[in-house]
Amino acid sequence: MTVRTRIAPSPTGDPHVGTAYVALFNYCFARQHGGQFLLRIEDTDQVRSTRESEDAILKSLKWLGLTWDEGPDIGGPHGPYRQSERSAIYREHCDLLLERGHAFRCFCTPQRLDELRKVQQSGGQTAGYDGLCRGLSVAEAQSRALEGESHVVRMVVPRTGTCTINDRLRGTIEIDWVQVDMQVLLKSDGLPTYHLANVVDDHLMGITHVLRGEEWISSAPKHVLLYSYFGWEMPELCHLPLLRNPDKSKLSKRKNPTSIVYYERMGYLAEALLNYLGMMAWSMPDEREKFSLDEMVKAFDLSRVSLGGPVFDQAKLSWLNARYLRENLTPEQFVERVRTWALNTEYLGAVVPLVQSRIERLSDLGGLAGFFLQGTVEFRVEDLVIKGLDQEGLRRALQFTAWRLDEVTPFKSEPLGLALRQLAELCGVKAKDFLRPIFVALTGKPVSTPLFETMTVLGRDLCRARLRLAIEALGPMTAKEEKKWRKELDGVG
Ligand code: GLU
Repeated sequence: MTVRTRIAPSPTGDPHVGTAYVALFNYCFARQHGGQFLLRIEDTDQVRSTRESEDAILKSLKWLGLTWDEGPDIGGPHGPYRQSERSAIYREHCDLLLERGHAFRCFCTPQRLDELRKVQQSGGQTAGYDGLCRGLSVAEAQSRALEGESHVVRMVVPRTGTCTINDRLRGTIEIDWVQVDMQVLLKSDGLPTYHLANVVDDHLMGITHVLRGEEWISSAPKHVLLYSYFGWEMPELCHLPLLRNPDKSKLSKRKNPTSIVYYERMGYLAEALLNYLGMMAWSMPDEREKFSLDEMVKAFDLSRVSLGGPVFDQAKLSWLNARYLRENLTPEQFVERVRTWALNTEYLGAVVPLVQSRIERLSDLGGLAGFFLQGTVEFRVEDLVIKGLDQEGLRRALQFTAWRLDEVTPFKSEPLGLALRQLAELCGVKAKDFLRPIFVALTGKPVSTPLFETMTVLGRDLCRARLRLAIEALGPMTAKEEKKWRKELDGVG
């Protein structure tokens, strides 16, 4: 049997280090067995998926050196590798399940489902579909569907007994079927949900081993059932432990930068980041901490994966990165790395229009634009002020900004300008005054190169990280403030 693994990211945000971590393990496992590693884009969530995010994910994984044998960019014998291009395949498979009585059409309205959820919640029950439409005759369901009545297709799930999942790392996991919802497989727009698309694709793409994050364990019963409904052999499941913040909570961008782009822009070397991700949940047989991707491939062994929550610790990563800078690069190679990192035509080319008309001598460049080459910047807390706002108002304004910056797409000067001006209005201050602490947080100075263009060049990740430092310097947001402020911001849409 040829081992075939895959990474199946959903293109709904920044390329996440967790995706790279799971990709790395899949890559090593496949390569070690002389097998293949695939990349599939799971863009079934049409609202949240973007091509911008897909491109960024592919670029980041390539930067890390995790190459795939089949994927949306290079094709392959099992394509297309983007789920949005495979709708007909899912519909056919869904029809098969309907024919065999493993799925049923559900005509319940969103209002009914809402009410049901409320009743269940107030009664302390687990929320889930109650099976009402399961009682419809096939003939009735078919004729209502033919008449064009809006409906979804749900899978039949037993209401008694226990589902057994075999996990390569965790052994047998048992989940009672009553805990498993009668999952929607096909939405009312005829597009599949993650579960149907994921199972159909893993099978059709010949995936033999599914290595993915432990957050998917609860989905496994639905997948086990779908494989048995289709009469297909199940790939081997292996749920990897999730990366954690130093406080052991699930790694999240609120507490820790999670985007691969951030680490690239901060000047971590791809091989150091990859090495560090390899140390998460896995260790070399000789416990050595510094190793290359090839060395990891050679030594990779799932039995050395440990289940304790691996902590993603930036300080440790920096320590490892420093070792790579010191020990692995000749001065010439070092120069080359600095070039590819930021002293390249593309990056400098983006900075130049912002500085060329603002300096008298080339040597003014460092003073004016040095922050473009920094990770974080130093600022004076006294410079973080907004005329007309007290400390709380200022903290609220900066937090609003942090949230909005996460939502602005594309991260370009025009939409950024629009979003920030809107926030100024919401906070009842002049845009010029509102922008001042943002200048300070991002550049270290109250006045600098044009803000929105500067933000575009710095990119979302560095902006987020710098803004967060400013917010922390003023006193981090409390849970109560978070709730209140989020409501206030969401209220204005
Ligand atoms: N699209 C899922 C994700 O975003 C894939 C989960 C899986 O590997 O089955 O992680």
